[in-house]
Amino acid sequence: MTALDDLPIRDDLRGKIPYGAPQAHVPVALNVNENTHPIPEDVAHDIVASLAAAVLTVNRYPDREFTELRESLARYLGHGVTADQIWAGNGSNEVLQHILQAFGGPGRSLLGFVPTYSMYPLLAAGVGTSWIPGTRDDDFELSPETAARQVRDANPDLVFLCSPNNPTGTPLPLATIEAVYEASTGIVVVDEAYAEFAPDGEASALTLLEGRPRLIVSRTMSKAFAFAGVRLGYLAADPAVVDALRLVRLPYHLSALTQAAATAALRHADEMLAMVDDIRGQRDRLVTELASLGYAPHRSGSNFVLFGGVDDPNGIFEALFARGILIRDVGIPNHLRVTAGTESETTAFLEALAEITPR
Ligand code: PMP
Repeated sequence: MTALDDLPIRDDLRGKIPYGAPQAHVPVALNVNENTHPIPEDVAHDIVASLAAAVLTVNRYPDREFTELRESLARYLGHGVTADQIWAGNGSNEVLQHILQAFGGPGRSLLGFVPTYSMYPLLAAGVGTSWIPGTRDDDFELSPETAARQVRDANPDLVFLCSPNNPTGTPLPLATIEAVYEASTGIVVVDEAYAEFAPDGEASALTLLEGRPRLIVSRTMSKAFAFAGVRLGYLAADPAVVDALRLVRLPYHLSALTQAAATAALRHADEMLAMVDDIRGQRDRLVTELASLGYAPHRSGSNFVLFGGVDDPNGIFEALFARGILIRDVGIPNHLRVTAGTESETTAFLEALAEITPR
């Protein structure tokens, strides 16, 4: 049998491990920070009607500029964002890849503050960009001073800020984003994949776009919007940034079906986001109840909670798995991460954990 290493694969990919949470069919999957609530049935019917119309056009290539979708995304974002500031891809991972293809590359560098989203170094490696792992303050917080100092010292071509941060849940102050932008001469990306779960009234980095042409805010329909299976991520930035991304995207990268489904879902944004309050409630409940079980949950502005104080993460992971509950070992010693599910999924997790927690 041929082994991967027998192939004339790129030297810098040798020995690398592909990204991927364990996939398993279990009754309670709380491992990849999806919205675990199904989409409303009337919205599903409207999406199907749009898909049916789109199927009749698939002999032709789709709209390469996904014009209607960009207009819908701009309307959804608000904050005065216009369609010419919007870019989209098959998930925000692809959008981040486009950014690295355009602004990274051999001889260039990307700085992120670890622990953070584990795809950042992999996306960098894919385009030969070196990864600079920055550090955080206590409790995974990131102050303007800590972040700006490291950006000034390393002078990277790109900085990725995850707000709130995955896998820790930590919200990121706007002041840190402003300080990083001032300290940097390169592209600053704020990954707001989980922004809709922030407390009401908390400002998005979208409010900082005006006058900052090197700032990019990326979003996704995979999380709060309950649309992970469709694969639609997007960003808002200066129109010149969007022009740069056109240079690296594959022609017609967003299928007619993707465009139709996402545009239809955005017509029902309020209904699609109706469960966000519920999910935030379950997240807050997780923080409270994990603490009363003796664990050390971190503050979260997202739809998941990272908790410490776990003596045997692998043992707890396996014991939950044996009970049909899948959570995530993100590789932080003595920690595990759990997604806030529906009320009954969250209850199932907490009851199982109470049973298996050593006393
Ligand atoms: N950014 C962050 C912080 C994430 O956690 C994820 C998904 N886990 C993504 C981006 C990518 O999501 P998608 O490609 O589904 O938009």
